[in-house]
Amino acid sequence: MAIRGSHTVPIADTEKAFKKSREMYEICFHKPGFKTWTPYGTAEVVNWANTAGVFPTKNFSTNYFEGHQGINGQALKDRILKTDKGCFGCPTPCGKYSKARTKLGEILVEGPEYETIAMLGGNVAIDKIEEVAYANWVADELGLDTISGGNLAAFAIECFEKGLLTEEQIGRRIAWGDLESVVYLLEKMAHREGIGDLLAEGVKTAAEKIGGGSDRFAIQVKGLEWTGYEARWAPAMMLSYITCDIGAHHNRSWAVTYDVAHGRDQLEGKADKTIELQHIRPVFDLMGTCRLQWVEIGFESDHYGEIFPLITGLPYGWDDLIHVAERVWHLTRSFNARENPGFGRGWDYPPARFMEEPVPTGPAKGKFIPKENIDLMLDEYYSKRGWTPEGIPTKKKLEEMGLAFAADSLEKAGYDLG
Ligand code: SF4
Repeated sequence: MAIRGSHTVPIADTEKAFKKSREMYEICFHKPGFKTWTPYGTAEVVNWANTAGVFPTKNFSTNYFEGHQGINGQALKDRILKTDKGCFGCPTPCGKYSKARTKLGEILVEGPEYETIAMLGGNVAIDKIEEVAYANWVADELGLDTISGGNLAAFAIECFEKGLLTEEQIGRRIAWGDLESVVYLLEKMAHREGIGDLLAEGVKTAAEKIGGGSDRFAIQVKGLEWTGYEARWAPAMMLSYITCDIGAHHNRSWAVTYDVAHGRDQLEGKADKTIELQHIRPVFDLMGTCRLQWVEIGFESDHYGEIFPLITGLPYGWDDLIHVAERVWHLTRSFNARENPGFGRGWDYPPARFMEEPVPTGPAKGKFIPKENIDLMLDEYYSKRGWTPEGIPTKKKLEEMGLAFAADSLEKAGYDLG
């Protein structure tokens, strides 16, 4: 769906909103994280993620990438950066514009940012920032998402390595760390040619069709390819991924820093933190603002509650916005249940790899989260959310949230709402 506006957006109190936004700018400029954020942008996260043992590597088979120094923020800044780039009106621009030369050609590209580096770098074992930038450019030109595209390329390479896909099926040999293999797979996906027709269905469906246990290598939840944080030693991040309403995405709750700071082996407190973040972060999406000032440089969330009524004229403060986000959370869960017969706990499990295979290398070596611990976290999470043990919003909770109509439609669909 594409929407184009043709009118200006009315501001309820232009003078006060302008004054407040100037104040917000000034506060951002004086935050301690401001100086280091813009030069590297999200690529700065590569070193941290690798050191913490959460960096996706070789289709999430491990979470430590030996070649990370060739694709980190410093490599980007020293070798390919042309200029910084920001979204309209941003006080803390994190975008990059890069020029890179590879054996396949020279390109100019917006990026690469962290997720792209994770999925078209470490996850396919590419260790040169120029090649990550090139794969980023190919995906952009083809209109492919770099996260799902990189995840699918890594899945195909692992299936080939394990003998689940043959050279004949793929149309050539493919290998870890080989830019040509990755570009070949992205192009096949975009044009739905040969193996690309299968991969373009997404990693979940592709694994169902390939069979042979390939679902173990399909790193997804609810059909969405897992994004750039491997979570076998990050329980709150794991819970965030598996309960995210759109599938395995970090956007709704980026809890991995909480895990690192507050204990990575313990499960206690992780449901509370996940829920707290799942309410805060969607507020930014609902308002159509960036959350990175809040996440990355410590800009206080209360400012959003102060400027919101000045712009919209609606008498909502921060706590009211959080309440709206909570309603959305119950609504999207109800929507998923209504649209998918049999929806529930079974949809919230991570791939078997994360519940059964210890991390083989790096600082998280030996770590994984067994299914019984996943269930413990889900039990606590559902209970705190006011959902049934199967993860369906209860009638009581939906009514309390002013969503009785959602309860009606779930009951009509045959769900027991407790
Ligand atoms: S608005 Fe957000 S995503 Fe855009 S440049 Fe600024 S910090 Fe980056």
